[in-house]
Amino acid sequence: MKKRRKLKKKRILILFLFLISILILGGIEIMKKENNTSKQTNTSSKKNMEKKEEEKIKNTDKSLEKAPKNAKEFDALSDGEYLTEKGYTLTIKNKIAKIEGNIIANKTYKLPTDYQPENPYQKITTERCNNCIDKTAYEQFKLMQSDAIALGLNIYISSGYRSYQYQVNLYNKYVATSGVVGADTYSSRPGYSEHQTGLCFDLNSIDDSFKDTPEGKWVHENAYRYGFIIRFPKDSEKYTGYQYESWHLRYVGEELAKKLYQNNEYISLEEYYGITSSYE
Ligand SMILES: [Zn+2]
Repeated sequence: MKKRRKLKKKRILILFLFLISILILGGIEIMKKENNTSKQTNTSSKKNMEKKEEEKIKNTDKSLEKAPKNAKEFDALSDGEYLTEKGYTLTIKNKIAKIEGNIIANKTYKLPTDYQPENPYQKITTERCNNCIDKTAYEQFKLMQSDAIALGLNIYISSGYRSYQYQVNLYNKYVATSGVVGADTYSSRPGYSEHQTGLCFDLNSIDDSFKDTPEGKWVHENAYRYGFIIRFPKDSEKYTGYQYESWHLRYVGEELAKKLYQNNEYISLEEYYGITSSYE
């Protein structure tokens, strides 16, 4: 009898332990599931927020006329608002094109002949002037320059603001040596040069050797922190209409510059905004 009772007790104990372990395991599974669902809701709500933010920036008014495809179309447009391929609003006012407040000057978007930087660091009195670029852009450059100096690097502006007339002479000189087709790949026709905006500059040697110097490498990796972008990035000729220029920096502000620097490369304004850069 005693033996049988013992056996019964043992069986009950085993059954009890079995039930307990099932309960524990079940509980763990439920907790895991709950955790996953809350994670999923978190990421999806984050995605929704990002989407909404994007929609805020982009214009949803599809009734707007499309942004011009080339310089000829731009010339024919009157002041107003236009829709880019990526859904941004392009505003033309006094024949000056802007997206999100950023002036666009490229092969499609021409500047008026008499256009000058609105707020230059130094008053413009000459056809070309390196510190006559936009005040904020210049101050940001000085900051970048002093950080570079601290690392033993020497960066300096070799070409800043250039007037329409200066570009006439420069472009004609290039056409004389390279022809129109050749000159158009590396120089701008008068009015289409970003240098007239006072928001850009060329650094140091103004040639391909710059990208391999310690200065060129550091500028590539750090310019965005000061609000600058490499305006004509590698492999972007189909968007920008220009060869890669490691030395030509454009000021767009830190917020946009950070968006345009991804995986150690720069995205051009043309690709990002969905606009063209084409004379014809
Ligand atoms: Zn340049």
